[in-house]
Amino acid sequence: MSESSASSARLKLWGVRGSIPVPGAATIRYGGNTTCAEVRADGEIIVLDAGSGIRELGLALENEFGSRAINLTLLITHVHWDHIQGFPFFVPSYNDKNQIQIFGYDGADNGFQEILKGQMAVPFFPIALYDLPGKVKIQQLDSMDFNIGKVRVRAKFVNHPGICVGYRLFTSKGSIAFLPDHEPYDAFKLHSAKSHSLSPEQTRKRAGEDRAELVEFLRGSDILILDTQYTDEEYEAHVGWGHGSLSSAIALALDAAVRKLILFHHDPTHDDDDIDKMVQFARKLAAKSEGNLEVEGAREGAEMTMG
Ligand SMILES: [Zn+2]
Ligand SMILES: [Zn+2]
Repeated sequence: MSESSASSARLKLWGVRGSIPVPGAATIRYGGNTTCAEVRADGEIIVLDAGSGIRELGLALENEFGSRAINLTLLITHVHWDHIQGFPFFVPSYNDKNQIQIFGYDGADNGFQEILKGQMAVPFFPIALYDLPGKVKIQQLDSMDFNIGKVRVRAKFVNHPGICVGYRLFTSKGSIAFLPDHEPYDAFKLHSAKSHSLSPEQTRKRAGEDRAELVEFLRGSDILILDTQYTDEEYEAHVGWGHGSLSSAIALALDAAVRKLILFHHDPTHDDDDIDKMVQFARKLAAKSEGNLEVEGAREGAEMTMG
């Protein structure tokens, strides 16, 4: 990490979009790259997800470090394309002085390493993952509570098709929770109740318990980066797709006494003006409550500091 940032923790967003990159004039203010965030804290460089935004991060790191070695940890929430597709273009992995430790959870019967190798295997990509000159180490995690240097990391399985976790990083300057893909439990559980042979009452109870656990996981986060892919109206037509809505995100952030909520994983069909409207709507909802919840729309290139 650069010396100047040693006294604070810093978050930078490199990709804020869900599903697929959407570059162009209509997305120029919020950005078109898929999920990637960078945290610098307590001497560590921690990268959250490897969507197409990680390409720009890689270039920036090379520029910053020059001939010095880069040593970083990449945490993957899940292996949907928009969270791993940028890794083959992450230039620090092409330099043998650099060490890249990748952590994630099994996303299929194949195992986490095999999935990451798969996207760079013939015929999808010309360079195999283990032919990369950088020291890339991939580890499939079982533990949901571990440390990266002095930063404690907690993980939690969230409500998204397949295996997907959210992370919470406890730095010495505050904590950041990262849940880029998550669908609220209630409507989804009712929607899928038939296939679980549960009554509506049992389903509601179960959804309430799952949500309460998540509230505890997030409680008191300084920053929460959360899936708000849909407006409330759009969500009605996308129950079961694995993504969140504005009202549910605000309610969750308020219940967990979060300080700042970042609306994240923007839908590829939403242009800058659509996202402006969503941010305004979310701020109005937040203002109706007693608390002091700050709300921002995730913007590529945005930086936030803690401490
Ligand atoms: Zn996603
Ligand atoms: Zn996903």
